Amino acid sequence: MQDKLKAIAENARQEIAAAATEKELKEIQVRFLGKKGEMTAVLRGMGKLPPEERPVVGGLANQIRDELTELFAAREEELRSAERQKDMAAQRVDVTLPGRPQELGHMHPLTRVMDEIAEIFLGMGFTIAEGPEIETDYYNFEALNIPKEHPAREMQDSFYIRPDILLRTHTSPVQVRTMEKVAPEVPVRIIAPGKVYRRDDDATHSPMFHQVEGLVIDRNISLSDLKGTLLLFAQQMFGPHQQVRLRPSFFPFTEPSAEVDISCFLCSGDGCRICKDTGWIEILGSGMVHPRVLEMSGYDPEQFTGYAFGMGVERIAMLKYGVDDLRLFFNNDVRMLRQFR
Ligand SMILES: [Zn+2]
Repeated sequence: MQDKLKAIAENARQEIAAAATEKELKEIQVRFLGKKGEMTAVLRGMGKLPPEERPVVGGLANQIRDELTELFAAREEELRSAERQKDMAAQRVDVTLPGRPQELGHMHPLTRVMDEIAEIFLGMGFTIAEGPEIETDYYNFEALNIPKEHPAREMQDSFYIRPDILLRTHTSPVQVRTMEKVAPEVPVRIIAPGKVYRRDDDATHSPMFHQVEGLVIDRNISLSDLKGTLLLFAQQMFGPHQQVRLRPSFFPFTEPSAEVDISCFLCSGDGCRICKDTGWIEILGSGMVHPRVLEMSGYDPEQFTGYAFGMGVERIAMLKYGVDDLRLFFNNDVRMLRQFR
């Protein structure tokens, strides 16, 4: 019986040494030391031994069990650390590799121009007002003195969601919404920057573009206030020697109305390609708020007057940066956009 135990021990030692994985090792352990294992099977036969041999065999069995238990534990630790090292080798990071440079982004030229415009007017005491891009027919047209069948609607065809709901064609509805909210309080002094939509698509028109509108209402506001404000704007935006010129025009929501030109910053008035030899460049539309618009929005036109103006941000950016096709702003070609870093 002692020989049998010694043989089992020797077998176990060899198998433990040869075990390649923790799982394999566990199986060997169960086979030798488990309840149905080889050691247990042998020891079950102890009862048949003469009494004086039992302690000797028992002692040997305990010794072997202790030895094997230790061997199993040691081998298990070995296998575990080998596996850990294999894992680490597989996941090793080469810290000597050069890093990938992070390219810094920058503002889109239109965002920059829009911010710049806003900055100038904020400096003159205007505040920013915003409104929804999906607008009702009432705010986009009716309240701005453009009733149904008015020919001005022809020039502002948009994208309709329902017959009476559309993507706004200008930021002017924000003027109406603002007046409704604060009327009859004065002064009103806001700019409304934002996206607008029209059914146009060519080198100088995009179906989506940006406008900044301004509105001032108070007592005794006159056309000279409008001109002075726009002159200051033009000089801050395009240079200190700018002049502005108002040309009579027509908008349904202003009376009188005027197109505003600035002196050509390229030729200083001598005439060139940009200004089509006139020395002047048109940059925005403006006028005195139509009495009917004031009235519809809750202001008594006998007491209050106001002016409004609106400019296309793309047009200002094209002029400022000499970009000749508006679509370049929206093509997302980084070669173009990088120039505005
Ligand atoms: Zn010119």
